[in-house]
Amino acid sequence: MSPGIAIGPVVVLDPQGMRLPPRKIAPEAVPGEVARLEQALAAAAAEGAQAEAEARQRLGPQYAEILAAHAAMIEDPQLRADARARIEQHRISAEHAVIEVLEGHADRLERLSDSHLAARAADVRDIEARIVGQLVGLRPGSFLDDLATPSVVLAHDLTPSDAAQLDPRRVLGFATESGGRASHTAIVAAALEIPAVAGMGAVLVHARSARQAVLDGEEGLVVLDPSPATLARYRAAAEARSARYRTFSEESSLPAVTLDGVEIALWGNIEFVEEATACRKWGAAGIGLYRTEFLYLRSAAAPTEEEQYEAYAEVVRSLQGRPVVIRTLDLGADKLAASVGGLGAESNPALGLRSLRFSLRRPELFRTQLRALLRASALGDLRILLPLVTTLDELRRARDLLGEVAAELRAEGRSLREGLLLGIMVEVPASALMADRFAKEVDFFSIGTNDLIQYTLAVDRTNETVAHLYNAADPAVLRLIAKVVEAAAARGIPCGVCGSMGGELLYTLFLLGLGVRELSMPPHQLPEVRRLIRGIRADHARAVAARALELDTAGEVLDLLKSALKPADAAEPEPTGSEDRDRPAIEATP
Ligand code: PEP
Ligand code: MG
Repeated sequence: MSPGIAIGPVVVLDPQGMRLPPRKIAPEAVPGEVARLEQALAAAAAEGAQAEAEARQRLGPQYAEILAAHAAMIEDPQLRADARARIEQHRISAEHAVIEVLEGHADRLERLSDSHLAARAADVRDIEARIVGQLVGLRPGSFLDDLATPSVVLAHDLTPSDAAQLDPRRVLGFATESGGRASHTAIVAAALEIPAVAGMGAVLVHARSARQAVLDGEEGLVVLDPSPATLARYRAAAEARSARYRTFSEESSLPAVTLDGVEIALWGNIEFVEEATACRKWGAAGIGLYRTEFLYLRSAAAPTEEEQYEAYAEVVRSLQGRPVVIRTLDLGADKLAASVGGLGAESNPALGLRSLRFSLRRPELFRTQLRALLRASALGDLRILLPLVTTLDELRRARDLLGEVAAELRAEGRSLREGLLLGIMVEVPASALMADRFAKEVDFFSIGTNDLIQYTLAVDRTNETVAHLYNAADPAVLRLIAKVVEAAAARGIPCGVCGSMGGELLYTLFLLGLGVRELSMPPHQLPEVRRLIRGIRADHARAVAARALELDTAGEVLDLLKSALKPADAAEPEPTGSEDRDRPAIEATP
């Protein structure tokens, strides 16, 4: 989820990611719509024939035959007749008519027990994409480029790299049927400050004829065709939110210090270079997590050493001497970069070749990134963070590689930062349990609670069907965090939290109470957390953390954390802990 309220016209994307304007048509528009259908069928057939000819030349006859079959399906008179009948009888747009007819065929094929025929459903969807592509003047992949009116987008799914390419001026907000609140798609939405709701379940079917929607990223709610009263309520809420942020900007230079004098370093998480500005605006004392894989996810080609260097250098310069923690590539699982081969198609991607494992498997990619990082380290307080470290062996291999690359750069006469700090993300139970050993070999820890929760509770963070089991307040998660903080303290190394828990007001007392002194979060969350910290006492936090660690269930922990916040800071808005909200919901006002 990404907080904020969006109000605007609805655009529904079909499962292939193309824009599907929800349109009911007036009776007098029927002939025009039928003409559009005819035109689109003719153009799609011509395009299909062209694709067939190209395939015959480049790939050989067996591939061309597949495309020839597609072209024949497009020209099937039954398809034309069925779609036309729908336009005339149901008064729907030509694209809706085509989708209804062909989705019906595809569904029937999929239900067949004959696997060969069931696989033909993909062919039907392919021709559907071709025809609808003609009708909306768009091809898959460029689906939101020409949104004429800023809109609320509803989709089955958006990958993190889809989301990274959204333009906040055109996409007011988005909701997806799949995904979870801690998914990278939701994280990207927060970075772009686009309100978003992920994991709504099958809702697109209700949304097809909607014209307007209100999307509330905090509540996890989408209201279709809101009544005037609902609309007025959400407009007022959106205005109140903006007003609250105006007051925050006056506080952004204040230190995050508790009433009894304990200072907390509040840092920003970024995915894109541009967010360094938001970090400065909201008074970040540094950048605690720069997710560099988005350099790969946002562009068609893999970024070169020089391009990476420029990006890191710009962030370091922009932070003017403040610490900048840059994480090495965390590709894999849900973050698949088109420009990087060797990723994807795993049956358990979260447990597969991702993150540091992937970087170690592809040393040429890893070395390029390390060279860029080390070069940029000469410009300021750049620190390197390794993601998903699971074993000491992995850490040592990565550190050795870093040493080799540093030696290589020195031999080239480049200047690098002396005493550069190297840290690890603690985000799997294995490294949390071994934290005392890791603490002897690294300069700092950063706890990645998003993955730590996923791996501790065995709940895929991107799967909406188990989203209700994804719970930061689970005692097992709290114990692991406590163990890591303790191991860091025993060795005297800093331990921050950069997963989503670090920015959730509900957990601030608990984390401070354990002894965490660095919290890193999306920049726009900094002001609320700063205000909370300035109103609490560290000794109260310590007592709360100790109590929380004695409890048996997540429910008991949540009750404790909610009640602990109230007396200390009764005037604050309700905490926005992730378990505090209902499941994502959709409402259609009658
Ligand atoms: C985490 O897992 O908590 C984390 C910060 O990394 P990411 O969300 O990018 O996986
Ligand atoms: Mg992670």
